[in-house]
Amino acid sequence: MSHLEPLTLPATDDLEAWNGFLDTRVLGGLEEARGLVAVLRETPAGDPETLLVWNDLHVALANAFAVAGLLSQVHPDGELRERAEGYEQQLHELRTTLMLDPVVYAVLSAAPTDGLPDGADRVLADALRSFRRSGVDRDERTRERLRELSARETDLGQAFSRNIRDGAGETRVPASALAGLPDDYVEAHPADEDGKVTITTGYPDTNPFLMFSADPKARHAVMHTFLNIGWPANDPVLHDLLRVRDEQARLLGYASWPDFDAEVKMIGTGDAVAAFIDKIAEDATASAERDAALLLERARQDHPGLGRLDVADARYYGEVVRRERFDVDGQAVRRYFASDRVRAGLLEVTGRLFGLEYVPVPDAPSWHTEVATYDVRLVESGDLLGRIHLDLHPRAGKYNHAAQFDLVRGVGGRQLPEGVLVCNFGRTRMDHSEVVTLFHEFGHLLHHVLAGRHPWVRFSGVATEWDFVEAPSQMLEEWAWDHGVLSSFAVDEAGEPIPAALVERMRAADELGKGYYARTQMYYAAVSYRFHAELPVDLTKRSQELSDRYAVWAQLPGTHFHCGFGHLEGYGSGYYTYMWSLVIAKDLFSAFDEGDLFAPDVATRYRDTVLAAGGSRDAADLVEAFLGRPYDSRAFTAWLEG
Ligand SMILES: [Zn+2]
Repeated sequence: MSHLEPLTLPATDDLEAWNGFLDTRVLGGLEEARGLVAVLRETPAGDPETLLVWNDLHVALANAFAVAGLLSQVHPDGELRERAEGYEQQLHELRTTLMLDPVVYAVLSAAPTDGLPDGADRVLADALRSFRRSGVDRDERTRERLRELSARETDLGQAFSRNIRDGAGETRVPASALAGLPDDYVEAHPADEDGKVTITTGYPDTNPFLMFSADPKARHAVMHTFLNIGWPANDPVLHDLLRVRDEQARLLGYASWPDFDAEVKMIGTGDAVAAFIDKIAEDATASAERDAALLLERARQDHPGLGRLDVADARYYGEVVRRERFDVDGQAVRRYFASDRVRAGLLEVTGRLFGLEYVPVPDAPSWHTEVATYDVRLVESGDLLGRIHLDLHPRAGKYNHAAQFDLVRGVGGRQLPEGVLVCNFGRTRMDHSEVVTLFHEFGHLLHHVLAGRHPWVRFSGVATEWDFVEAPSQMLEEWAWDHGVLSSFAVDEAGEPIPAALVERMRAADELGKGYYARTQMYYAAVSYRFHAELPVDLTKRSQELSDRYAVWAQLPGTHFHCGFGHLEGYGSGYYTYMWSLVIAKDLFSAFDEGDLFAPDVATRYRDTVLAAGGSRDAADLVEAFLGRPYDSRAFTAWLEG
């Protein structure tokens, strides 16, 4: 195997060099890609090299997309970020044009796969399917209409998101409603001359308020505002968006948008989405009713005779019951999670689990001094697998959630995979939920690196079906809930490891509400699926019916949840995916010994059969190869009912 080197990044403070790097990787990649498209257009039918050129083209595109996507989100220089964003647009345009090019399609359709590396048939079938899903084989008029619809879909999607951003509202409530909220929250919300405080619809404002404010009237007012984000502006936008997607799907020969969308996912068909939603809702019923009864019983101590909890009360009483029954104090838990120890612990734990060594590269420059770079080596062979960059703390202008980004997608014999974790954790201490998030995102990073040696870039890294990609990460979260694992790095200032009894209570508190949470998620999934499948005339009415059917808590009258449900843009009809991959994550985890999460055999087998395989096989086959049987929902159902 040839010896591959990681990228050499420019010096951290050399902005000119970073601009040069961006241009070389992205504009250079674009130019190379255009050249390769031209080569493909002139390739004679049946040329044995066709698919290799196709692969080269996608290596060039992947490299350009990765650098533009990453730097637009993390580089400290605002102008550079903006330029990178503009480049992303150019890359999207090139890809759209390519996938509607009948000449390239004809060349690909005649591409032989004999004598090519394993997986060539799969790469070719996938490419041809993508072309067909773009409508390349339709007549010119239909292609023109599809182009229009696609542009219209982008516009409507952007308008939908913009209305949510611009439609942010606020609620004025009496200052006394802040009783029960943390001190820093109270300080950040000073009363005006009328003795009122203003609560915005931003998550950091609304979420703690709904969790902790003991004033039911104020909670209802805040929730009412929150559930009217985007109303009424987004109602007609969503109507149009659903119709545009439906027409696209029908022009391409599908019965509905959900059928079109599900074709490239594990779930396969729109009908299967409907069946899945009903099955999960059904399986969650007993657990949901049990836990909802606990909350209602507690709420009746405050409000005798209360009939049913609604969405403005549920989170508050969830917190009350958690506090009273499980005695978990988030502040006390934080003492055990010093940020630097957590990071070291994460590397130690995953290194031991998957037979990896992370070698710090302190001299490697990056886009910011806080980024920590490591080479990833396979312990058993010493092979260099790739490089990771951990960019874990917030700063101005940086992406403000947690996600894994590609810097380079690995291709066997050609380029080493490099991945980046972009998060926003505190520099000194972390909440336990942040520790869980860190393990989750690191799962994506490992997937990216471990699956980085395929000859076909199509198979590289997290290249599986979209409703499977979360499963490996959701499974890795389990390690952040295990006392044996946590006590290896979670120690307080006196050096005392986190007590087993505390972890036990944290787990119990976390488990409370999993049933009603699942039913709420199925309500969201049903809105996402049924809106696209049925194109309801009255969206508010249909949303209310679906809430009655799936959600445990009563909806507030006069609210319009669907107008602020931002995932309807990105997920379309596929909001079920998160729960779908959680079902598989629980099934995968059932192969591990909960008494010994470091048992080496099963972890190594998982690493090699599931993670390293990337997109080279269907996810269902990977899971079956690992479990020795097809996946099923028994472990998930047992967890829900447990
Ligand atoms: Zn994830």
